[in-house]
Amino acid sequence: MSLPTHSSSSLARSARVLSFEEARHLVEQFAAGVSPEEVETVDLLAGLGRVLAQGILADRDFPPFARATRDGYAVRAADVAEIPARLEVVGEVKAGDWPEPGVCSVGRGQAVGIMTGAPLPEGADAVLMVEHTLPIREPAVKLVGKFVPDKLVEVRRSISVGENFVPRGAEARAGQLLLDRGRRLDHAGIAIAASVGKSRVQVFRKPRVAVLSTGDEVVEIDAAPGPAQIRNSNSYSLAAQVQNAGGEAVRLEIAADERGRLRTLMEEGLGCDLLLLTGGVSMGKYDLVEQVLGELKAEFYFTGAEIQPGRPVVFGSHKKYFFGLPGNPVSTMVTFELFARPMIEGLAGMAPQRLIFLRARLKSEIRTKTGLKRFLPAVLSGEFENAEVELARWQGSGDIAALARANCYVVIPPDRERIEAGEWVSLLMRSG
Ligand code: AMP
Ligand code: MG
Repeated sequence: MSLPTHSSSSLARSARVLSFEEARHLVEQFAAGVSPEEVETVDLLAGLGRVLAQGILADRDFPPFARATRDGYAVRAADVAEIPARLEVVGEVKAGDWPEPGVCSVGRGQAVGIMTGAPLPEGADAVLMVEHTLPIREPAVKLVGKFVPDKLVEVRRSISVGENFVPRGAEARAGQLLLDRGRRLDHAGIAIAASVGKSRVQVFRKPRVAVLSTGDEVVEIDAAPGPAQIRNSNSYSLAAQVQNAGGEAVRLEIAADERGRLRTLMEEGLGCDLLLLTGGVSMGKYDLVEQVLGELKAEFYFTGAEIQPGRPVVFGSHKKYFFGLPGNPVSTMVTFELFARPMIEGLAGMAPQRLIFLRARLKSEIRTKTGLKRFLPAVLSGEFENAEVELARWQGSGDIAALARANCYVVIPPDRERIEAGEWVSLLMRSG
């Protein structure tokens, strides 16, 4: 992985508490400057969620032939300008058939039965929907030894040239770029790769993201916690978020609030592509993370953001980038989404994604304090066009039970202390 392309020293000098938007943009700027080097080739479906290291090109025109989009009759629009009109049915093309020009063509006053997905025969310039026609059942006529039923069709509606078929190459020309390198493969991307015959795809190696939980009170999840101890949920929620963002989590041992051990584990974590620390970044006497990073001569880009939860969040680099996320479980999760995710996207080979807030109507009034941008766990409910959002009842940033009931965060601007029921508010959806 390559390190910052920016002049990081100039940014380090401005290490400070930033507004949410400044902090986010700073991370995005750094994230845009990193890129993975190693690639691997995987089976197409194993590529789901991975970032393409190759562009995917159209191997032929899309569609490869003028493709009917309706069941009906291939016709010449001019023949049905006046209705009702009668056309002679001279053949049929179903999906998978190839209408050989000269053998299956549409001449003046003629129609060819056609099915969705079938190629338009030569001479036709539109497809009439079968619903707008009426077969004329004349007594079966003997024609060169075979019976031809439904030889005539009555047309009840006129049609314009070009209707109900997609011209050859209208979606993409052979050789055209369909998916860019750096694109994360979702089901639509998988469909494109499949349609051009890529059963294996070249993707970037996932970035390895070290997850380091700190705290004397934190114990492994299969240990029996003492009366003042808590289990290490953050390493697991972070590992899940890392995976979801396209990284591979490397969970390190828990670091006690003790300089030597913390430093050893940090150095171990800095051997990965990114280090995520949780806990130990607040103002407490035993919050040692910043001090130890300082001893390592790390550069700090910000040491706080004007947000709640998560104000003490730290971003910097020392050979690799690191984030110090506050240890309260909800703060850890929120600050990961707001700041660490775009860096993982960059390290995974994508352009870091812009954060987009949605809007919904507030179900019940919110009162809060001004000064910080708030990301409060909330429940978006309702159905179809009638979505409503309401804050989850919670006991503060340690309340993972409340967070688990929530499905989004309501985003409250720093200058608002009261938002009335019925107002439109911004939302950040919680990703998987
Ligand atoms: P700190 O940021 O170290 O001051 O921790 C803030 C709160 O988060 C404290 O109540 C910690 O016990 C809790 N906490 C810290 N680390 C973890 C962790 N790994 N898992 C669960 N809770 C944690
Ligand atoms: Mg702590």
